Amino acid sequence: MSESGGADSLKRARFAHVPTIFGLPDGVRDDTDVALIGVPFDGGVTHRPGARHGPEAIRAASKLIRRVHHRSRIAPFEVLRCADAGDVPIEHWFDLSAAHGDIERFYGSLPHGTIPLSLGGDHSITIPILRALGRERPVAVVHVDAHCDTSGEYGGSLFHHGAPFRIAAQEGLIVPELTFQLGIRGSLANAEQWSYSYESGMTVVTIEDLYERGIAAVGQSVAAALGDTPVYVSFDVDAVDPVYAPGTGTPEIGGLTSLDALILIRSLAGANCIGADIVEVSPPFDLGGHTSLLAATLAFEILCVIAARERRL
Ligand code: MN
Ligand code: MN
Repeated sequence: MSESGGADSLKRARFAHVPTIFGLPDGVRDDTDVALIGVPFDGGVTHRPGARHGPEAIRAASKLIRRVHHRSRIAPFEVLRCADAGDVPIEHWFDLSAAHGDIERFYGSLPHGTIPLSLGGDHSITIPILRALGRERPVAVVHVDAHCDTSGEYGGSLFHHGAPFRIAAQEGLIVPELTFQLGIRGSLANAEQWSYSYESGMTVVTIEDLYERGIAAVGQSVAAALGDTPVYVSFDVDAVDPVYAPGTGTPEIGGLTSLDALILIRSLAGANCIGADIVEVSPPFDLGGHTSLLAATLAFEILCVIAARERRL
């Protein structure tokens, strides 16, 4: 293992060793550019649980990822000092609000300038992460998901995995006019369920619109609209079709292929990504680890987007 890079698969057996993500060094330092962080929490799910096991499964799957992007030839671990920050110590896993407090405190303690790339966990974890990242100034959002996640009360609670972007907008953590929700589909509880997205000025791109306009074309137009604006990228794996990503809590048929998901992230190259997450990987529902491998590959793709900007590629 090099000091900042992932493990060299030609020299170090990938099937051995306790896994850190990509074989990265364990622990964040003051000069860490990107901290990969596990958030083993699924206390906000509305249906199938299991995302608390996501980080450990994604770390194990990441042993399959090597060091150089096959297309762009970007080697993110040579450009960025990356580290595995471990899992957020969640002390109150029976209490949703208190657990969110644990998560927010952890992100607030990261060194200034370190970009967090998080491995969930259910989508409710994005609320405390944005509370830490968007406190000083609201950020733009690229949100890839089958669902808008701007629902209201669910089972008597406003804070669940179906509402992070409504909560974040209401708390002034994100800019609705610079929030792009991509891949939206599936049946609704009622016709108004996601009206908050439209009424607050978010851009909602359905899966049909994505394919009609072209995956890369949509990604590039979003990147162009963002320019240098700091943007948070949030990827819910249920954006991908359950044929490719069965291990998730709220699957919806008719989604992205794995390749299209990678291309969508890749097309954001140039964006000023100040944080990202990959959420809703639920290993108990996974088949053969497909979803965890997809999540690990998406994390690598996001690192390449961050590295491309660092190098002004
Ligand atoms: Mn979703
Ligand atoms: Mn979601």
